[in-house]
Amino acid sequence: MENSLSPDTALVHAGRPPRIPGGPINVSPVLTSMYYAGGEIAYARAGNPTWDAFEEALGTLEGGRALAFASGMAAIAAVIDLVPVGARVVSPRDGYNGTKLLLRKMHEAGRVESVPVDITDTESTVAVCEGASLLIIESPSNPLLGIADISALCARGRAAGAIIAVDNTFATPLLQNPLALGAHIVVHSATKFLSGHADLILGASITNDDSLFERMRASRLLGGGIPGPVETFLALRGMRTLGVRLERAQRNAGVIAERLASHPVVAGVRYPGLVSDPGHTRARDQMRGFGAMVAFEVAGGPEAAEAVCGRIRLILHSTSLGGVETTLERRARHQGEETTPPSLIRMSVGIEDVDDLWRDLDAALTP
Ligand SMILES: *Cc1c(COP(=O)(O)O)cnc(C)c1O
Repeated sequence: MENSLSPDTALVHAGRPPRIPGGPINVSPVLTSMYYAGGEIAYARAGNPTWDAFEEALGTLEGGRALAFASGMAAIAAVIDLVPVGARVVSPRDGYNGTKLLLRKMHEAGRVESVPVDITDTESTVAVCEGASLLIIESPSNPLLGIADISALCARGRAAGAIIAVDNTFATPLLQNPLALGAHIVVHSATKFLSGHADLILGASITNDDSLFERMRASRLLGGGIPGPVETFLALRGMRTLGVRLERAQRNAGVIAERLASHPVVAGVRYPGLVSDPGHTRARDQMRGFGAMVAFEVAGGPEAAEAVCGRIRLILHSTSLGGVETTLERRARHQGEETTPPSLIRMSVGIEDVDDLWRDLDAALTP
């Protein structure tokens, strides 16, 4: 695939079979555990043509070589697997709770020294990167939508000798490409925006460092965190429409964030697209759009926030994000969310009509 194609075009065309007259234009889910002897791959834990198609498409978009994993967490576990026993791992204090809980567990077991930090604060992050083996960045962060200075952290983290991995799930490759900003590795939960239909679990890591690629591939092969061919097929199918889905979802999110910001029972809104947001200037310089995730606090505390979630009729009261359907939930109801304000509702804005969404949300806020 030509690298000069715009990402919107690459999404549609990357990862297709060779153009052979009479041949199919899509790769099918290849359901096999074995291959005839004598080829490069003998057993399907080592490789699958459907993974290859998904990996080619995602690698093209992120500007590196991709590896598909069973889930976003399997990809993150393979990244952490790169560091030696007892190594220092710096990660966001406000970040995906699966990553936080995994690092906490590994810290308690003596596998790594986990150092959570406010990664939107470049200086305090760099200060704890001295001697670190791995710096994990999430920007925008989950759930506070904090924006880290990715270029600065990559440059200074590299100087300190750390591998830099960026969780790009919220931004997607359309809004930011961390490898171009200096990261060694990008990870995705393809469960979210990439696949986009809330019907599968899948992850990926992307790098253009051959040694890191081979080590993560070995980790996938031997750790066994491999994806299913049907999941990779569906994720690639979903990615074909990421451009139009994200465009609509992001526009809806901007409108909803503005309306929430002036709503009487809303105590605060976090959306990098709001000029008043602390991450706005950085996001404007670093990203090609502000994304489709919005977080807001309900005046009246956690009970009032739960009541809003309970009154929603159209929007889905559900965890997870990045689908065509709008979802919301009070994040602090989960284990591992001690740093999240108790009345914060995280909303993943979908592609519905924005006025239908707003009517539902407004009615739930002021019954
Ligand atoms: C969901 C998510 C993950 C984990 O991905 P799974 O596919 O659920 O394993 C990692 N990072 C972020 C930012 C996420 O939202």
